[in-house]
Amino acid sequence: MKTTPYPHLLAPLDLGFTTLRNRVMMGSMHTGLEDRFYNYGKLAAFYRERARGGVGLIVTGGISPNRSGWLLPFGGTLNFKGDVVNHRRVTKAVHEEGGKILMQILHSGRYGYQPFVVSASDKKSPISPFKPRALNEAGIEKTIRDYARCARLAREAGYDGVEVMGSEGYLLNQFLCARTNLRTDRWGGSIENRMRLAVEIVKRIRAEVGNDFIIMYRHSLLDLVEGGNTWDDVVTVAKALQHAGATILNTGYGWHEARVPTIVTSVPRGAFASLAGRLRLEVTIPVVASNRINMPNEAEGILQRGEADMISMARPFLADSHFVIKAAEGRSDEINTCIGCNQACLDHTFSRKRASCLVNPRACHETELVYAPAVKKRRVAVVGAGPAGLSASTVAAECGHDVTLFDGSDSIGGQFKIAMQVPGKEEFAETIRYFGRKIELTGVKLKLGMRVTREQLLAEGYDDVIVATGIKVRKPPIDGIDHPKVLSYVDVLRDKKPVGKRVAIIGAGGIGFDMGEFLLHDPAHPLPLALDVWAREWGVSMKGDTPGGLVPASQPEPVRQLYLLQRKTSRPGAGLGKTSGWVHRAVLARNGVVMLSGVQYDRIDDQGLHITVGGEQRLLSVDNVVICAGQDSLAELMPSEEEAKANTNWPRFHKIGGAALAAELDAKRAIKEGAELAVRL
Ligand code: FAD
Ligand code: NAP
Ligand code: SF4
Repeated sequence: MKTTPYPHLLAPLDLGFTTLRNRVMMGSMHTGLEDRFYNYGKLAAFYRERARGGVGLIVTGGISPNRSGWLLPFGGTLNFKGDVVNHRRVTKAVHEEGGKILMQILHSGRYGYQPFVVSASDKKSPISPFKPRALNEAGIEKTIRDYARCARLAREAGYDGVEVMGSEGYLLNQFLCARTNLRTDRWGGSIENRMRLAVEIVKRIRAEVGNDFIIMYRHSLLDLVEGGNTWDDVVTVAKALQHAGATILNTGYGWHEARVPTIVTSVPRGAFASLAGRLRLEVTIPVVASNRINMPNEAEGILQRGEADMISMARPFLADSHFVIKAAEGRSDEINTCIGCNQACLDHTFSRKRASCLVNPRACHETELVYAPAVKKRRVAVVGAGPAGLSASTVAAECGHDVTLFDGSDSIGGQFKIAMQVPGKEEFAETIRYFGRKIELTGVKLKLGMRVTREQLLAEGYDDVIVATGIKVRKPPIDGIDHPKVLSYVDVLRDKKPVGKRVAIIGAGGIGFDMGEFLLHDPAHPLPLALDVWAREWGVSMKGDTPGGLVPASQPEPVRQLYLLQRKTSRPGAGLGKTSGWVHRAVLARNGVVMLSGVQYDRIDDQGLHITVGGEQRLLSVDNVVICAGQDSLAELMPSEEEAKANTNWPRFHKIGGAALAAELDAKRAIKEGAELAVRL
């Protein structure tokens, strides 16, 4: 018999009336494509590719049962027959690939960013400017009917079931918790009353769709907000949902307004799985574990320990549509791992842009960015094996070109090798591992330790030269910049030069914040942080024995006194990612980092760093000044316009990533530019 490396993960799940082909679920993600009918072709292609990649069950992005449930104005809804035809394109694509798909019904309640918002009470949420209207009895009854109609239409559209979104602080969670449910009628007060809406909705859906239709309920096991539910409440609700007709319980952690991170890269892998395991002991229907599970070995371990019946991974399927097939065939080293950065998925969603993925720019662009065989095979030199060059070289080789990749250093990765030294960015190593394997698989000829010159490239007679040489670190013209106490971020992160106890960081961009976290890391706690250390730092009780699972955070004495400085007068860290910036700001703030804006750097000398802020001169008596003041492009290999005109027999030169533009460079742009150029060659 054929053995698989992940027997639990790949085992079918028999639900009685239907069987899922394995235990892997692609969790719900709003892609931005579901909101417009003309994007359903692209949405179908997106899901088709994931179903072809072997995932057992897909859950769509949230679809609202009515207008008041919209997250954004004119969001995706399914409330009349005319909508069914669009959804059929999606279900057909998934079924043709042997997959199964549920439509998520999401009513945003007071999280809606639109004027029709409703909730249990009229308490405004901290993350939407719109004050909700408290639903009255008739409004509640209409909402239940709308859910049931939405589920019936989902069935007509060919979905295998629905997921009722009950976590993350959306409408049903708002009814479930005393934090937002201030009602005194039969829908508020005791947990039996607060859960009535969720339970009625499941009952009414079951009555509407019959017994052979999956109803998954996403249940919040840890609200991570004050006034959240206790574990006893969670269990009471779960049992009632099972009784009402739910087929599967998915799990959720943390409301969107919670000040505890639940999915960013610094959250330990599989952090919340043990709670799913506890719930599993209380119910007899399957329970799904979710959040920060991104590789098959984690997923297999959770199932093996009996902590869940199924594993939900959402972002990992943006990163790699063929995750399951690769795992099943013992090719896990080929998986393009989600690094939890949120930069192209959630940050896009919250900026109302189409979601994609930093490590996989094809995600949600399957019909637009196609890695098809090239019409004419070209000899291509790629110089620089950072994210841009790695992406360009492997995609070009995948399209059939003859590719040689050069790097001056002795290993691939470019600045990602420096980034992965930052606490909480350990996952970046996975991207380097992925590209390393991809180089082998696509036959890219890798030449390390070769800092090539233009002459060498010309002598080789390439058709195309892709300059992906990245950046040079900026050295700001400050009096005393060559003083021995001055270090660059490369000195500290890559070369591990010793750093004193009192430090000023010049530059409060992404790297300045990363430097802060690096210098504040207590070496007594090895990286990645153990779950108990992480939970203590963020004030989380995994027992769920307090409302919302919150306990006072323990903040040990910071290991250094830091100053984080910038010249701009805006708030430091204002340019960080929408969904992760607050985490970085919170870590630095609780470690007492002094953040100053509007700083003028006067000089650096034996005494420390002399600055002027708000017209006042100050001396920061620090042991070291660490420069994180950005970068400039390094593209010396590029010919000038005159050279190119004068030498028409030269190869075509292209530049990408940092070499093309250092300002606002990130790996998302670098990888995307690399792939887009490679398919155009
Ligand atoms: P690089 O990564 O700089 O790669 C250029 C490569 O070219 C290098 O390997 C270099 O050795 C090689 N090279 C240069 N000249 C030659 C030559 N003549 N011959 C041969 N080889 C040559 N980005 C994010 O998106 N998210 C983050 O969270 C993030 N965190 C970061 C944290 C830190 C601490 C740092 C330093 C960077 C971080 N970045 C992050 C930025 C990200 O790493 C860069 O945007 C990305 O690496 C740029 O890719 P690139 O390929 O253009 O250049
Ligand atoms: P950055 O975000 O552009 O920040 C550079 C900082 O240096 C700014 O605070 C800037 O602020 C300051 N600065 C610029 N020129 C200066 C000068 N001449 N003298 C003194 N200070 C100067 O760049 P970065 O921090 O180096 O990061 C590089 C890229 O990596 C970023 O674009 C970012 O996208 C990416 N990155 C992302 C993350 C992430 O978590 N998403 C993390 C790290 C890096 P003032 O001009 O106001 O002084
Ligand atoms: Fe994961 Fe980052 Fe891709 Fe989002 S953008 S799916 S967090 S790797």
